Amino acid sequence: GTPVEWLEAWTPAEGAARATAAFHAAFAAEPAGVWSAPGRANVIGEHTDYNGGLCLPMALPHRTYLALRPREDDVVRLVSAQEPQAGVWTADLAQVAPGSVSGWGSYVVGVAWALRQAGFTVAGFDAVVDSCVPYGAGLSSSAALESAVAVALDEVHGLGLGGDDAGRARLAEVCVRAENDIAGANTGGMDQAAALRTREGFALMLDTRDGSTRHIPFDLAAHDLALLVIDTRAEHQLVDGQYAARRATCEEAATALGVSTLREVTDLDGALERLGQALPPGAEVEVSRRRVRHVVTEIARVELVDDLLAADQVEEVGAVLTAAHASLRDDYEVSCRELDLAVDTAIAAGSLGGRMVGGGFGGSAIALVRDSEVEQVAATVAAAFADAALEAPGFLVATPASPAGRS
Ligand code: ADP
Ligand code: MG
Repeated sequence: GTPVEWLEAWTPAEGAARATAAFHAAFAAEPAGVWSAPGRANVIGEHTDYNGGLCLPMALPHRTYLALRPREDDVVRLVSAQEPQAGVWTADLAQVAPGSVSGWGSYVVGVAWALRQAGFTVAGFDAVVDSCVPYGAGLSSSAALESAVAVALDEVHGLGLGGDDAGRARLAEVCVRAENDIAGANTGGMDQAAALRTREGFALMLDTRDGSTRHIPFDLAAHDLALLVIDTRAEHQLVDGQYAARRATCEEAATALGVSTLREVTDLDGALERLGQALPPGAEVEVSRRRVRHVVTEIARVELVDDLLAADQVEEVGAVLTAAHASLRDDYEVSCRELDLAVDTAIAAGSLGGRMVGGGFGGSAIALVRDSEVEQVAATVAAAFADAALEAPGFLVATPASPAGRS
């Protein structure tokens, strides 16, 4: 049969040793410490975080490790094992502003810039990054990088934010600003909350209307279940423009309906009907209706999963995931051939349900699988990709890990 490629997570000791050794090699000095932050899978609630909605992410055991040493001046020097051709990425913190920097280091200096914008005193630094978070795979390597930087700068400058959830919520906001304003990716707040505000063993119920959270016990193994993550390794070019278009359509619909965000839509059928009159001339009414229907039904699916988990009806979560996938594919139109193949094949092979995760147009899917069937489902998906002459996917089992912190 087709071989199955498992994407192993490093142990914290292994990650710290790698980052420290790379720091020695790059800067011939001792780092002040190593910090790390996790990638995430999102159980349910996709494309809801910029609509004031709910989502339920969890931290992955796969983490980004950062060895860092503060400097006296404003110079930032960076090396990443994932970007070897970039060499030493350098910037002057005093010169950083929206539009002034590009490349992977913008995610890092963006955090220092956003901390300064928020009134905190931070200096330049030397840092080295190494990561086992699948890269650009919809599992949020970007927020893992930002969050590792945020907790490192918090600690070396004694900002006092990392020690409690209120401070971590502020760090998450700082990371969102870094990603939006300096890295130029217009994302919502789910990924940063997942990296900074989760708890080991729990998924994070995030209400993006007010930023409040609840920790939801998420021990699938106790139910003989597992969450299988499939990195399809598909990368489609449209991502950024399509994401911006979805956001713009949601904002236009909310404005037309007279609400601050689509979260405030309480009567879906009424709202869909009113859109016909309320949208500005030239707007694509049917498209807008489909987008609104996804967001509103997706928020309801998060509430349903919350109820099912509270009632220990964990197997029934599977069907909700599958319904979410259909909504993302047909109403939000952000799936692609590889994601559909991964989900459809996983379900045909016995999964209780599954869906794409992240922004879409590539990246990863999740499937709720019986413990005893994980290997067989993965093998069936790998074989289907081989039959379709697609690049071999990567697989991992998601268990809820710890948030960003010192390693
Ligand atoms: P995702 O967050 O789903 O993995 P993104 O496109 O949002 O995908 O973020 C990926 C980008 O984040 C990379 O192209 C790079 O610029 C930056 N990045 C993330 N992790 C690292 C890393 N370990 N080293 C260097 N850059 C990284
Ligand atoms: Mg990202």
